[in-house]
Amino acid sequence: MLTIENLSVSYKGIRALRGASLQVKKGEIFALIGPNGAGKSTLLNAASGIVPIAQGRIQLEGEVISGRAAHLIARSGLIQVPEGRRVIGPLTVAENLQLGRQASGVRGSDASDLDQVHSLFPILAERRNQLAGLLSGGQQQMLAIGRALMGRPRVLLLDEPSLGLAPVIIREVFDALIRLNKEGLTILLVEQNARLALETAANAAVIEQGRIVHQGEASALANDPVVADHYFGRA
Ligand code: ATP
Repeated sequence: MLTIENLSVSYKGIRALRGASLQVKKGEIFALIGPNGAGKSTLLNAASGIVPIAQGRIQLEGEVISGRAAHLIARSGLIQVPEGRRVIGPLTVAENLQLGRQASGVRGSDASDLDQVHSLFPILAERRNQLAGLLSGGQQQMLAIGRALMGRPRVLLLDEPSLGLAPVIIREVFDALIRLNKEGLTILLVEQNARLALETAANAAVIEQGRIVHQGEASALANDPVVADHYFGRA
């Protein structure tokens, strides 16, 4: 579904990604885990066209999307929920959702998509006229996911959705992701919370210093003593 091949990215000479390859299958949750600064956000941002790539190729269902402008990549169905949510604080919940719709270029009535978002996160229906900046962190994360869903993603990219949230809220957000996935959505999930990510995903990769160092079934990675040693207990 989403194939990333030999991807390299540099920031002013600093190599953040060094030939990273991974493949996300249609209908799965794929987790990318790794320490701070390993290149996880860079990989998502490169896939979304937000940062330029130095080398490599990205394909969405066989179509090469690398090299396209970010808004065109979003329109082709690769939609990112950024780290730190980035909701527009002075706009209402409803307006933020509408922005997600407009950014993706999806035409036609948004009623059924809005219903889907409201059924997934009823709090967003209750707060539809409230300013997004007044929501809690968890509610803002739900809004950021809802905004992405309004663009009808073919693949949803999520950057650290658990960051800064209380465990009960993290569970709520992850249950929503699992529900979306059961309904058929393909998800690429970047997380520092390795245990949670590997419990949620079918397949996963570990990135360190810009290189993919392990890749396989999430359950196998969770049972790998080297991975467990490095990544469990920190999250
Ligand atoms: P984190 O969990 O801290 O976000 P990450 O795995 O997502 O970590 P990246 O944010 O992709 O890592 O960063 C990879 C490397 O690139 C790091 O060394 C980081 O300092 C560097 N980097 C990231 N963004 C920039 C930038 N805009 N300019 C220069 N260097 C950057």
